[in-house]
Order: sequence, then C-alpha cells, then structure tokens
Amino acid sequence: MTGASTDAIVLGSGPGALAIAAAMAKESLRIEILTGSDPKDPWPFTYGIWGEEVDDLGLSHLLEHRWKNTVSFFGSGDKNPNSPENKPTNHGRDYGLFNKIKLQHYWIDICNDYGVTWHRGFAVNLSIGDKESVVTTKDGKELTARLVIDATGYEPVFLKHKKQNSLAVQTCYGVVGKFNTPPVDTGQFVLMDYRSDHLSLSEQKEPPTFLYAMDMGGGSYFLEETSLGLAPPLSLETLQARLESRLAHRGLQITRLEHEEIGLFLPMNIPIPDLDQPVLGFGGSAGMVHPASGYMVGALLRRSTGVAKVIAERMNDKNASPAELAKAGWKELWPRELRRKQALYQFGLEKLMRFTEPQLREFFKSFFKLENPQWFGFLTNTLTLKDLVKAMVDMFIKAPWSVKWGLMGMQGRELKLLWNFIRPSM
Ligand SMILES: Cc1cc2nc3c(=O)[nH]c(=O)nc-3n(C[C@H](O)[C@H](O)[C@H](O)COP(=O)(O)OP(=O)(O)OC[C@H]3O[C@@H](n4cnc5c(N)ncnc54)[C@H](O)[C@@H]3O)c2cc1C
Repeated sequence: MTGASTDAIVLGSGPGALAIAAAMAKESLRIEILTGSDPKDPWPFTYGIWGEEVDDLGLSHLLEHRWKNTVSFFGSGDKNPNSPENKPTNHGRDYGLFNKIKLQHYWIDICNDYGVTWHRGFAVNLSIGDKESVVTTKDGKELTARLVIDATGYEPVFLKHKKQNSLAVQTCYGVVGKFNTPPVDTGQFVLMDYRSDHLSLSEQKEPPTFLYAMDMGGGSYFLEETSLGLAPPLSLETLQARLESRLAHRGLQITRLEHEEIGLFLPMNIPIPDLDQPVLGFGGSAGMVHPASGYMVGALLRRSTGVAKVIAERMNDKNASPAELAKAGWKELWPRELRRKQALYQFGLEKLMRFTEPQLREFFKSFFKLENPQWFGFLTNTLTLKDLVKAMVDMFIKAPWSVKWGLMGMQGRELKLLWNFIRPSM
C-alpha cells in the first residue's frame, strides 16, 4: 500500500498543466499543483484554434474573436490588386482566438471546484521510489505523491527527451495596432500570406516567411511575420525587417502601436519523450505540439480526459508503482498509431524546411485543394492514420512536378524519419 495522501503532483501552470490537472481532478483523484509562476498570471501568447474544434468540445464561449472570412494567399503577389497572383484561397472554415483569461480560468475553476491544492515554488529535485515520488522545491519543501506529471513546457525540469541534433523552431515578430489603411479586409482572418513581391530577388532566395494577420475589431489589426520552422531559427531582426518592407510595399503605416510581440520561439519537431520513464508529461514537455502547425491547445482539450481516465483506473490498484502509473499514462498519450502519425508529420516538416519559396507556395496551393475535412483533419491531427496517409497521397497527386520532385528526393534525416513511421520509437 502507498503512504502518499496525494494521487498526483502536476508541475507547472501553463495550458498543459491546467488541462491535465483539471481532467484528473474531475476523475476524483487527489491532485496538487506545484508551479513556479502565479497560476493567474496572464499567459504570454495568443492562442488560435479552428472554430469547429471548440464547437465540438462545447467551448465556443471561450473565444474572444471568431472569423468567418478566413483566407490565405499563395500567389507571388503583384502591384495590381486584381492580378491572379493576389487571389486569395478561401478556407471556408471559422477560425478563432481564445480569450486567454477565460481559457485559463475555465481550467482553474474546475481545479478549485474539485479540490486541487496549489503550491508556489520551483521543482528542483525528484526521487522516485516503488510506492511514491517526492518532489523537492528550490526552497526545500517536499511534496509526495503516487505520480508526478511534468508539464513544465518545452524544456521540462525532469522529463528526458532523446537528443535532437536539429530542432526546427518557429519564430515570429508581431504587432497589434492601428494603420493608415486596413492591412486586411474588414472582418478578415489571414492564415498565411506568402506573397513576396516586396522582397528583392536575392531576398526571395532566403528562407521564406509568411504573414499571419487578422482584423481584431475597433480599428485594430494583428500582423505577425512568421517563419514556419527552421533549424537554426530565423532571426527576429530578419522577421521585423520583412514585416516592415511588406508594410512599406503596400503603403501601410502603423499610426498607433498597441502591442509588440517579440522573441517568440516555438520548437516544432520535439521528439516523442522516452516512454519508459517513471514521470509522465503533458503539453509541450510531452511533445504534444503539432509539428505542422505549432498548435496544441485543441489537443490538450481533446486528450486530457482520456489520459486522466486511464490513470484513474490504474490508480485503483493501490500497489501500482509510480513507474506503472506513468507507463499507463504514456501508453494512452502516445499509442503506436499516434507515434506513426507523428513520424509522418515530422517527415513532412523536414521536407517543408528545405522548400524554396515558390515550392512552398505551390505546396500549400495543393494542400488546400484537398477536401476541406482532409486538410482540417491534417492540421488538427484528428485523422486516423489511414486517412492521414490518404491525405498525403492525394496531396502528392494534386501537386505540380516542382513539388513532387521536392517530396520524392530524400535528404538528411528524411529516410530516418520515414523509418520511424514503419517502426515508431518507444
Ligand atoms: C509563440 C507561440 C505561439 C503559440 N500559438 C499557439 C496557438 O495559436 N494555438 C495553440 O494551440 N498553441 C499555440 N502555441 C503552442 C502551445 O499551446 C503553447 O506553447 C503552450 O503555452 C504550451 O503549454 P505548456 O503548458 O506545455 O507549457 P508552458 O506554457 O511553457 O508552461 C510551463 C509552466 O511550467 C512552469 N514551470 C517551469 N519550470 C518549472 C519548475 N521547475 N517547477 C514548477 N513549475 C515550473 C512555468 O511557470 C509555466 O507555468 C504557441 C506557442 C508559442 C511559443
């Protein structure tokens, strides 16, 4: 029998930690949260999600903005606004931004309603026994539980990851503000604007970037120059310069700067953690970020309940060790099918990182010619493995030869990543 009075300690208070703590508390488990930051501190990022994802979860009330007019631009761009190179691709799907305070409090309220205990402090040491684990904080406090869940983000405090030589990192530089002329149509959301006629010919040969932009209402717009994922990452100075030249080319000036988002780094191809370790992870620490989109909140909301249920069931065995409890969680979090899908996504990202700008534009044109549920399922990681493979084959068929050649030639780690698809790592 275990002597621990707590079932699980969750480390962190970002979206990953709160999602799993709330779901486990709902399973009547005794949960404690240890976090280095104030759980009510506003999160630094803006979280986007497709409308249907929150609708399916019954959580559309957590959105602050929702757009129906959702488009991308995959032409090369032209001074003439009526040129086919400026033609938008209509996505025909709603996109939303969370009200991040509401999202945070949605999870905090569940935690409070189900009796979660909160602790402030940084976890610095972990000792795992046969019956329980002990976390020690920087100021010497000891917390004991049957299971520890490390949800401390992309550089987790205790979880071990396999070494990755080239980590693909998404970087962005963004501004929120008012402009002399609207930078996007009224009520419009632009997922990716790859037009590049503002760049010199030599700049067009450098790593491509795109604009993510939206009308925030009240005359304000959010514009973010983004690099999809690169190893090494594109510098923030380059992104800022690209955004400035994009704006200047279109005669746009910021008349009032309301907010500047600088220095955001998002690792995209985090390897799946070692699934034999006696500590469980959730969120960024557990490699849950989508390697193609960099999104994760939808997955946290969809998957926390299933993981919590499996752990709660395993905890019914009062003799189950921390290692056995973590194993049950890892098995649910990273089943073989999901690991195989992850290998395919990582293979795809590796390909995209090598594409030139014209290839990328053609690639995305073909991608968004897939059936609407296919590309949506691809971007939200909700397709079955069979349907994901079908989407990739369909996309290959639709793509022009410039893209097909790029997809077929194997370079660098690509063969290894394909091998992971056949035999996914444990
Ligand atoms: C720039 C950017 C934009 C993104 N945009 C989107 C988006 O639009 N949509 C989407 O779905 N996803 C998006 N993501 C991805 C993802 O949803 C976020 O990165 C998310 O914040 C990750 O959540 P997390 O809880 O795993 O980690 P974090 O948010 O990093 O939280 C980590 C927590 O651990 C705590 N902590 C750290 N060390 C310790 C310690 N030793 N002891 C105790 N506590 C500790 C920290 O205080 C913090 O509370 C974005 C990510 C980035 C970087």
